[in-house]
Amino acid sequence: MPLPEVFLYDASDSVSEASADLAATLSELGTEAPFVIASHHGAVYAHAIKTASDPRTPGPRADQDWAMDTGSAAKRAGADSIVAIGGGRVLDLGKLVAARAGLKVIVVPTQLSHDGICSPVAVVLDDDGRSQSLGAVEPSAVYLPIPTLMNAPLTSFAAGLGDLIANPLALRDWRLAAEHGLEEIDQPAWDLSAEAYSIIERYLDEDLASCASDPEFVKLLAQALILSGESMIASGDSRPASGAEHEISHAIDHLYGGRALHGEQVAFGCIFSVALYGDDPAGLMSRLRRLGLPAHPTDLGLDAGATEAVLLEAPETRPGRFTVLEDADLDPRSARALIARIWS
Ligand SMILES: [Zn+2]
Repeated sequence: MPLPEVFLYDASDSVSEASADLAATLSELGTEAPFVIASHHGAVYAHAIKTASDPRTPGPRADQDWAMDTGSAAKRAGADSIVAIGGGRVLDLGKLVAARAGLKVIVVPTQLSHDGICSPVAVVLDDDGRSQSLGAVEPSAVYLPIPTLMNAPLTSFAAGLGDLIANPLALRDWRLAAEHGLEEIDQPAWDLSAEAYSIIERYLDEDLASCASDPEFVKLLAQALILSGESMIASGDSRPASGAEHEISHAIDHLYGGRALHGEQVAFGCIFSVALYGDDPAGLMSRLRRLGLPAHPTDLGLDAGATEAVLLEAPETRPGRFTVLEDADLDPRSARALIARIWS
């Protein structure tokens, strides 16, 4: 199981120096003709790289067809690798383009909003404009441009933490599935996911704005998100870092086109997992509020009926995955009772 190589640039505040360093790193990695996919934020990095053809910037509706088309374009251009520079959506597109083109992918995150940075999974829109989670190519290398990551909006840091808050619950769901004889636990994958959470746990009750201005925190968050991605590479699927809380986020995407960043929705989903395990979610909810993460359905623009619909839809988003949600097997009445119990 080859894990991605991780490179980091934190020598100065200068984005242009980081761009030059990225270009040098790509040469060191032996990429001679990279095909670059970059967000607008990633443009400065894209322009520093000698590429197989002009960089492509995916529009907001870039979907699986776009990835297929771009993969063909990369092959026609004689590319030897894909370099994806941007937020989570651009990195996911890059991983899928690489899968379609049969090339390796190097990712350059410009924000730390979820653990897809280095997972083998890509969440990309289908023909109907719905997010779909697909097997793709895991990155062969990750490049962390600290000067750019430090400038990301605070909500992206909160979302990154939100995605990691899910890990212990996803592991609990995995154990539940194992207890039902449905799955086996892969211990190395389990340990990576647990370690990812342990790295950020001590920051969950701190002031996020001051954390985000500390380069050490930014590096640790990146390390945790990468470890979480590696746990998925190790298990070959998203199991170690994705349980009922992710099904809830996927259901919000399916039914309402997404109401917040992935990690924000996942953090919200954790409230239901905790409650379904019979624990009091009050502590988690106040933690989420402090971090600026959604702690009430109205924070995501969901009324009681919409929240009920999300709970009933969630198990359909991931057929074959057994979590506390499948175990609870909610019907409309028990879903309403659960919502009332949490937010009464
Ligand atoms: Zn996630």
